[in-house]
Amino acid sequence: YKNNIIRTRSNQLLEEKNKELILAKEKAEKASNARTEFLSTVSHELRTPLNAINGIAHLLLEDKPKKSQMHYLESLQFSGNYLTNFINDILEINKIDSKKAEIENINFNLKQLLENIQSSLKELASDNKNDFSLTIDSDIPDYLIGDPTKLSQILMNLINNALKFTHEGKVMVISKLDTLKDEQAFVYFEVKDSGIGIPEDKLETVFDSFSQGSVGINRKYGGTGLGLTIVKKLVGILGGEIKLESVVNIGSSFSFELPFKVGEKPIKVEKKPIT
Ligand code: ADP
Repeated sequence: YKNNIIRTRSNQLLEEKNKELILAKEKAEKASNARTEFLSTVSHELRTPLNAINGIAHLLLEDKPKKSQMHYLESLQFSGNYLTNFINDILEINKIDSKKAEIENINFNLKQLLENIQSSLKELASDNKNDFSLTIDSDIPDYLIGDPTKLSQILMNLINNALKFTHEGKVMVISKLDTLKDEQAFVYFEVKDSGIGIPEDKLETVFDSFSQGSVGINRKYGGTGLGLTIVKKLVGILGGEIKLESVVNIGSSFSFELPFKVGEKPIKVEKKPIT
């Protein structure tokens, strides 16, 4: 009888604890939703006037300004672009965190995607005098089904960083087929550079938000400090995990593997003239 009383009492205590935990979880979720909504509203509100500022700065710069004004206008344009990128990054993180980021399943050509990235970054590579190469394993099926937009975003962020933190060195993008089974292709991607590298004690924290040495617009290398946060989250929602290896003054390697369904070459539909 005594044992039964003790058991009932401990069950009651457990139930109370569970209720408390559920309430605390609900409270935390509400707070998190409120934060997401607040950030989203503020960011959207800031974006509209910023677009106007950027547009006007661009127009004034096109209008052959006086030399004395040129410097101020360029500074205005730089700051405007920085803030726009910053706001876009915050909105992107918010979208992923609030699980509003939709994952697409589109039939796409990986070779084409990589070539597009290469041509859009050519200028930056030659500005930094970097030897930029991109290799695609011929075993990877030409067409894959997945989210090409998010994959481009991940690779663009990583390659941009590699080019930014490497001067007169090598930047390599490698893609390899890991496994091909049951119409599923696991593709390995690596962005490797021979740049400044990352100190060992920072290898974990570079993926945290605002994880640069200094915060703000006056950073030596520019950037918002949110790029790798977005990369890690995007790789995660696509079913992979980002890995980083780096040695100071030798270089860095960011790699990840993603699953895709094997796609098909789209059939071209010839348009017949209406007779
Ligand atoms: P951002 O580049 O905007 O500062 P990121 O989140 O992309 O922000 O990167 C965070 C930090 O990680 C960078 O500021 C830099 O210190 C370090 N980092 C990222 N990529 C590289 C790289 N390829 N080589 C050296 N350092 C890097």
